[in-house]
Amino acid sequence: MNASIRAVARTAAANDLSRISAANAAFLRRPGRLLINGEWIGAAGGRTFEVRDPSSDAVIAHVAEGDAVDIDRAVQAAREAFEDSQWSRMKPVDRERLLHRLADLIEQHADELAELESIDNGKSVLMARHVDIKHAIDVWRYMAGWPTKLEGQTLPVSGNLIPGQEYAAFSLREPVGVVGAIIAWNFPFLLATWKAAPALAAGCTFVLKPAEETPLSALRLGELVLEAGFPKGVFNIVTGMGPTAGAALAAHEGVDKITFTGSTEVGRLIVRAAAGNMKKVTVELGGKSPAIVLDDADLPTTIPGVAGAIFFNHGQTCSAGSRLFVARRHFDEVVEGVARQASSIPLGPGLDPNAQMGPLVSSVQRQRVMKLVNDGLSAGAKAVTGGKALDTAGYYVEPTVFTDVTPAMAVVREEIFGPVLVAQPFDRIEDIARLANDSIYGLGASIWSRDVGKVFRLAGKLRAGSVWVNCHNMLDPVMPFGGYKQSGWGRELGREAVYSCTESKSLCINVTG
Ligand code: ADP
Repeated sequence: MNASIRAVARTAAANDLSRISAANAAFLRRPGRLLINGEWIGAAGGRTFEVRDPSSDAVIAHVAEGDAVDIDRAVQAAREAFEDSQWSRMKPVDRERLLHRLADLIEQHADELAELESIDNGKSVLMARHVDIKHAIDVWRYMAGWPTKLEGQTLPVSGNLIPGQEYAAFSLREPVGVVGAIIAWNFPFLLATWKAAPALAAGCTFVLKPAEETPLSALRLGELVLEAGFPKGVFNIVTGMGPTAGAALAAHEGVDKITFTGSTEVGRLIVRAAAGNMKKVTVELGGKSPAIVLDDADLPTTIPGVAGAIFFNHGQTCSAGSRLFVARRHFDEVVEGVARQASSIPLGPGLDPNAQMGPLVSSVQRQRVMKLVNDGLSAGAKAVTGGKALDTAGYYVEPTVFTDVTPAMAVVREEIFGPVLVAQPFDRIEDIARLANDSIYGLGASIWSRDVGKVFRLAGKLRAGSVWVNCHNMLDPVMPFGGYKQSGWGRELGREAVYSCTESKSLCINVTG
């Protein structure tokens, strides 16, 4: 490998918030409240917390800090709305219409939502508009089609246990009840959508606890839900901290299903809390996904592809392609190409249309990422490019590519959740599945190759919920997404997400004449 590739000296500015849309300026001035039973109210304890712009560390809003009391009120509202015939007995076609009305409103306000997401999370406004919000609209529309399609089956029972009797039997698909959702900060609006849309489509009622770093777009979603005309109590939001509001929601006896996206560590706490009333659980957790470049890959498309796999959303993506495996004969060329690309990514605040990578979400996240980067450097890994945080108030970290790593290093084993790639060569295709599967995680994997036979054989051996070929992080509302191993339980998106918000009921009728 040649000498390190150094990024040009980087200084990354902060957002100029005096230029944001009038709609968002007004939104930021409104006090951030909780949405409970169709009303915007302050937290019972009267507390609020600060929301910061990651590009400057400046406080941009104050939001209500709900706790167990507020969660209890929200769950009660959701329970009443679930029992109330207005929602659970609403004609499926009317539920569809309401969901489409919400999708229309999101579409109308897409630019403004993208701007808000960018200010709150730090990601590029263009990416927020063309990935987060665009995909969310597609998901709302896809899920809007489900209420009229939640069919059961006619079951051909023999009724052999009691001779002389005849039975007719059916399976019914019914809403599971009150769904609680706790989400992470990396795709705030999109994750709120992934959780809420299937729950509402299935006829459930919903309580959302957004991440404390990024509560704003969820609150704006709440406003649009009310504007669309959803009955009160169907969609509730309690902003607050994980160990208080989040833990109370996960443990609440009135919640029938909890769905979580976040770290594996907190996922374990959610699973334990859910055991109290045996609520149903979906957890979408960490990842350390491999991107595997075989010896016949098309390098001109593979190099930008594997760079995008890790640097998309600043590496703050649970399925980020953070472990790169390259057939040895292409290793230097691919690593140099990816490192060149990394070193030329313009860093800047989300609202700057020329910036392709923004700050990380919080100073805590920057510290976590830099701790792992420094561990890697001390353990002998070589930073071909990057390896530093910028000396700015914003939480910027240089896109980093490590080589000379060993399988035992923390940078190779642990989820970094930042723009940090570890690259390793491999010699024999027979070994690659074992190397790629050598992780506690199993969320995603990508294979870069033109040989369909090799791809198919390797795809079958990878222990991951999504295997992408000549692409990475490709999401679509119809494709289930979730993890093997410690990457989680259950699936987001697609039929499986809707079914996970339902119970199956067998109905058996004695029809003996
Ligand atoms: P990260 O470490 O990336 O911030 P977390 O897994 O800690 O991710 O957070 C994801 C979500 O889980 C956030 O909404 C957070 O508030 C919530 N959370 C954190 N701790 C707990 C907890 N003990 N119980 C329930 N939710 C929690």
